[in-house]
Amino acid sequence: MWRRGVAVAGLILIAVALLPAGVPARAGTRLNVVASFSILGDFVREVGGDRVAVTTLVGPDSDSHVYRPTPDDVRRVAAAQLVIINGLGLEGWLPRLVAAAGAHAPIVTATSGIAPRRPAPGEDRSHDVDPHAWQAVPNARTYVTNIRDALVTADPGGAAVYQANAQAYLVRLDSLDREVRAGVARIPPPRRRVISTHDAFGYFADTYGIAFIAPQGVSTDSEPSAGDLAAIVRQVKAEAIPAVFLENMSDPRLMRRIAAETGARIGGTLYSDSLTGENGAAPTYIDMVRHNIKTLTDALAP
Ligand SMILES: [Zn+2]
Repeated sequence: MWRRGVAVAGLILIAVALLPAGVPARAGTRLNVVASFSILGDFVREVGGDRVAVTTLVGPDSDSHVYRPTPDDVRRVAAAQLVIINGLGLEGWLPRLVAAAGAHAPIVTATSGIAPRRPAPGEDRSHDVDPHAWQAVPNARTYVTNIRDALVTADPGGAAVYQANAQAYLVRLDSLDREVRAGVARIPPPRRRVISTHDAFGYFADTYGIAFIAPQGVSTDSEPSAGDLAAIVRQVKAEAIPAVFLENMSDPRLMRRIAAETGARIGGTLYSDSLTGENGAAPTYIDMVRHNIKTLTDALAP
């Protein structure tokens, strides 16, 4: 059913792209929802099921931090009946897009109610607040309940469906949270320290107790200086950090260089800010978290 939903959503997306600008899309009787990036799109599909047609602006394997909206995005937002965003500064490009679209749809922030994480000293490069709240599964619960409530408000006739879908998905998230905790428990505490490309795992680290050290700051829009790199290399050596990890949407060369200069192993690829396409390792949020904890335990557990 999920795959059919995606196929139908794909057709609607083509239909929307073919519409002249300014003509509202009518997705049959389905609620037309725009999500700012792929992880939110997955949550909306889980909760909305067949009652919603979801399009995402920042697609699979793409970077929300430095995204440039397209003319098609303007049309999608103009046609939306509901827009779901992450907030916490992730979508800096959104206000201009909404203005360009002349959008009237409600814009709902999926992180409402989540305590924002302030980046630790030395971690912060471009944001006051860390936007990557989805990386802690308990926060994903909040995303899902916010999305459920937004769908119920936008489409009260579907309330029972949205509540039932959300409840079923929350049960799966609880099980996922237990899986992550069991995975971390297998890693000896001195080995719960890794390097990754950008500071996407702060909420994960705070929740599950694995320290992430990232040379690139919170956002992907800045490159580390030679001095930053030298400091990271010294730190990896001094603290005997066992592994460095790549990310699906970041340039792998920096991590490969750190690994080569320190002798730390490359533990694999973590998925941080976007899902993959259907044939990738992380086509859904649950797949993504599962892939990440397996990659971490494979590299760090005895
Ligand atoms: Zn990020």
